[in-house]
Amino acid sequence: MTVALPIARTTELHQGVVDDVSLLRSVQVRLGKRLLELRRIDRFGAFQTTTFSLYCEQVGLSASEGRSLADLAEASEKRPSLVDAVLERGITLSQAGMVAEVDRRPELLRPGEDWLRMASQGTTADLRRWLDRRKEEVRSGRPVTSLEVALTDRADVLFRRCRDLVSRSVGSMVTPGQALETVCDDYLERHDPERKADRLKARDEEAKASLKGSGPEPSWVDGRRVAPSALAKRTLLRRAGDRCWVKGCGERVFLQRAHIHPVRAGGSNDPGNQFQGCWEHHKQHDSGEWFLRTRVDGTVVMIDKRGANVGHLIDPEMVPEDERPPP
Ligand SMILES: [Zn+2]
Repeated sequence: MTVALPIARTTELHQGVVDDVSLLRSVQVRLGKRLLELRRIDRFGAFQTTTFSLYCEQVGLSASEGRSLADLAEASEKRPSLVDAVLERGITLSQAGMVAEVDRRPELLRPGEDWLRMASQGTTADLRRWLDRRKEEVRSGRPVTSLEVALTDRADVLFRRCRDLVSRSVGSMVTPGQALETVCDDYLERHDPERKADRLKARDEEAKASLKGSGPEPSWVDGRRVAPSALAKRTLLRRAGDRCWVKGCGERVFLQRAHIHPVRAGGSNDPGNQFQGCWEHHKQHDSGEWFLRTRVDGTVVMIDKRGANVGHLIDPEMVPEDERPPP
């Protein structure tokens, strides 16, 4: 009695898979041609349905499956080698779909490129990444960078939903990059103190112009009285941007407003008496590890308990433009 060796069984299984894939692909190619013809005739009422997508669902194909098979058949009319590549297992169906998309949109193509050859050299995921990147470059007209993030299922669902809604508002399917850009822009528009300060500044200037008023700060904006603290806050932001003002500290995220001369010691709420610091620098300042003194030249220096100079605040006028986030 002979027992089949695992290696023999594996080889047998592998051959079966190869044969089945060949069979599957040739059926898919034939199916694609039939679907394409039906899509062109465009008479789905005869099958008690109205659209190509619904027709696909009715016969047991998902709409995207049916669409990609018909797209492949359509693309292979111009480039027969596409079908050969699929049949000879050189590329996957999804890759063929992406090659077909580049064929349909010549603006995605760079001189000397052959996407069919690229497809045969990379994985489906590689080609998807290259195509997304190229689409983003063409859309924005600028070089782009890739961002790889690990997402929870929930974040994935949220992002896809955002992408759908952005696409709906634009009227065509946007790239992941464009969706991300729109979502970030929207968040900043609603929550970024720097943008808010810019908007308030513009409104202040309008109010000033209409009142022909004098003085450094209007206390009335759009006919409403503005609280001194709100005025102080926007003045601070205008002066140095949304960052810790301690020279050398790059903190831009966790920030608090502090008084140079503490209020409890008689300091005023005047914008000139305020600075913005990170949590750490604010805590050090409030616990008396150092205090601030303004020198005659206007520099604000940090003096510790021993009287030693331990640093200074940035000069708001010296903050380079490129330190600020793009508008
Ligand atoms: Zn800091």
